[in-house]
Amino acid sequence: MQKASVSDHRAKPSPVGVTLDTTAASLQPRRLTVLGATGSVGSSTLDLIARHADAFEVEVLTAQTNAAALADLALKHRARLAVIGDDACYRELADRLAGSGIEVAAGATALVEAATRPVDCVMAAIVGAAGLRPTFAAAGAARRVALANKECLVSAGSVFMSAIRDSGAELVPVDSEHSAVLQSIGSYNPNDIERIVLTASGGPFRTWTKEQIATATPEQAARHPNWSMGRKITVDSATLMNKCLELIEAYHLFPVEADQLAVVVHPQSIVHCLVEFADGAVLAQMANPDMRTPIALSLAWPARMAAPTERLDLIRLGSLTFEAPDEARFPALGLARRTLQLGGTAGAILNAANEVAVEAFLERRISFPAIAELAGGALEEAERLGQVCEPSTLDDVLEADRESRALARGLLPRYS
Ligand code: NAD
Ligand code: MG
Repeated sequence: MQKASVSDHRAKPSPVGVTLDTTAASLQPRRLTVLGATGSVGSSTLDLIARHADAFEVEVLTAQTNAAALADLALKHRARLAVIGDDACYRELADRLAGSGIEVAAGATALVEAATRPVDCVMAAIVGAAGLRPTFAAAGAARRVALANKECLVSAGSVFMSAIRDSGAELVPVDSEHSAVLQSIGSYNPNDIERIVLTASGGPFRTWTKEQIATATPEQAARHPNWSMGRKITVDSATLMNKCLELIEAYHLFPVEADQLAVVVHPQSIVHCLVEFADGAVLAQMANPDMRTPIALSLAWPARMAAPTERLDLIRLGSLTFEAPDEARFPALGLARRTLQLGGTAGAILNAANEVAVEAFLERRISFPAIAELAGGALEEAERLGQVCEPSTLDDVLEADRESRALARGLLPRYS
């Protein structure tokens, strides 16, 4: 269960970007599937695709329940197949796409099957552990997985990275901080990287006292100061659980150990990472906070494609500020350390418990601070019950996810 030693770890090839053709000078036409097309990342991806219509063909678009939005997107982008996760929405989708020539399917199995269609790139943008099966399926079939679904790495890190290595697919991170790290580490020798620092905006409660944070409502948590994102990740950004998940994500993506990863609060969200090297040099990546920049890179890598992100004007900004994260007010951040120490299924347990906790908070069943307390409490309890183990397969991960959800639901009354 203990993580491999530093030297073992570094000997492991990191598949991030490794099989990419770095001589590619310009964007090639690509067949693309978007899993989670109606979401925040999905919509931003399709916004870019519409701006580069000659360069892409859309194979599959998926959504969970919003048949109307999915049908509109499928028609607009002339997709070959539209898949709705919820069976109950099949009729509506089929009616809306009748006569269009676009294939229609519904249900969890259809979603996984759609993800296995051979394409050049799959944008994996389903939210939460629900994205695991479809993204694993995509990893076995697509030439490239543009990975927004961080849960694949948080919950199934070692199993997912093995699946990527086995399939030979390219893995390009979409999360802005990890996209920034990919650009900053370049082709430098991994042994020369001393530290990777992820930046965090601090969320809407950055300047709130512990007492004020205790009263935070779902509406207040939904107001991210810089980024426009889906509901779940916006709450995670407010608790700083998102940064905890991103530390775990970075651990699996990049050739560093847990103690070489750190977080700095940067309220403007302009600098997305800092990569510190053995000679004292620090490389940072900057851009205005707009997901279309990292998404564009994930599609065009190692080339660049135009994105309409507002151009950075440092003179107008005047100053960039940085602060130490405060784990006393945002204890979720500290859970990354414990999760990485435990290894194995600890990530799946933490992620599942956090999903249960965020849902309960949005339903006003628990307070804002109880989200991190419940996630941490479930992890502790799972450890006490001996439930943390080394997963060999995706099914092992999904079993840990199920067990943790049951555990977290059982613990809910304690935090209500
Ligand atoms: P979102 O809630 O806006 O969209 C989620 C998409 O997944 C929707 O298309 C929805 O229909 C689909 N979906 C939801 N539940 C599903 C289920 N059970 N089965 C199949 N499909 C389902 O989410 P988002 O903010 O776009 O985030 C997507 C992923 O990207 C998350 O893992 C998130 O952590 C990550 N991410 C998002 C951002 C961002 O700016 N939004 C940034 C970095 C990483
Ligand atoms: Mg991020």
